[in-house]
Amino acid sequence: MQSVRARLSAPFAAAWGTVDERELLLVSLEDSEGNVGFGEAAPLPAYDGAGVEDVREALERYRGVLAPAVDGARADLLAACAAESGLAESLAAIDLALWDLEGRRRRQPLWKLLGAPAAPEVVVNATVSAEEPTEAAAQVGSARAAGFACAKVKVAVGDDAARLAAVRATGGDEMAIRVDANGGWSVEQAVEALGTLQRFGLELCEEPVHGVEAVARVAPCSAVSIAVDETAGAPGVFERRVCDAVCLKVARCGGVSGVLAAAAAARSVGYRVYLASTLDGPLGIAAALHAAALVAPELPCGLATLGAFADRPEVLVPRSGRMSPAPGPGLGDALVRWYH
Ligand SMILES: [Mg+2]
Repeated sequence: MQSVRARLSAPFAAAWGTVDERELLLVSLEDSEGNVGFGEAAPLPAYDGAGVEDVREALERYRGVLAPAVDGARADLLAACAAESGLAESLAAIDLALWDLEGRRRRQPLWKLLGAPAAPEVVVNATVSAEEPTEAAAQVGSARAAGFACAKVKVAVGDDAARLAAVRATGGDEMAIRVDANGGWSVEQAVEALGTLQRFGLELCEEPVHGVEAVARVAPCSAVSIAVDETAGAPGVFERRVCDAVCLKVARCGGVSGVLAAAAAARSVGYRVYLASTLDGPLGIAAALHAAALVAPELPCGLATLGAFADRPEVLVPRSGRMSPAPGPGLGDALVRWYH
């Protein structure tokens, strides 16, 4: 296990706080034939509460399970780890490494192991991180020029209407604009704010409020389509459909296996599904891209986030608002050098 401190090129601000550097944990698993699979843990404590130390401790406990051999069945090894600690971010690291290892052993890309018919090409959104309207407009202008058809803008921070007016003016009528409040509103504030902001023609609002019951109160009163993100991890969220869509994340779902299970559960009650990153490194992003081959998201995915990091090699670069996994077996070749 190796700790990697990755600096962001600009502070990333949201209703939950600001991040200018994030710690990722890189794990590797080697089988008896010398094949090596890599995975990462991407906890973001300010965002979802899972602390890096907790994740590190869980990964240490998995050593006892995995050290004798990793040649066994993937699901059995993962279940044995889950019995030691069910922390999703730690399980995700092992799940990714086991899938990567299996791909390398069988010389197949992960999308093929998952049974998808073809390599995925995933429509992704750009992220407008600036709070200040002129800067936000400049960011959406760059995104439009780069071929993105969807941009995500933070709300519940500063002057949302001024920011959205600037983004709509520069992004143009064709740009799908989604907003993310990161649960920064109360039910009443959300209903009022979305009533005001809907004039900017919003694709959806992610996490207007936190919690299944609160989202269930906002959704029927909102002219803007509602998606859950943080609340997608809450108990009971897939028992009935409380809003339009759900945003799923590899780190929070416990890896590729967890994302596939969550997507199936979400679809079974009628949610639309898309995938996103929690400022993951390229192994996490690659895992989501491969999973998307099977999940087939109905909405653009929030996976174009590697550009937020400074001083890292360019990998998994979006082209005209779309992303595909790197070629090669498992999660793909040439991703691990990003961490060094
Ligand atoms: Mg979100």
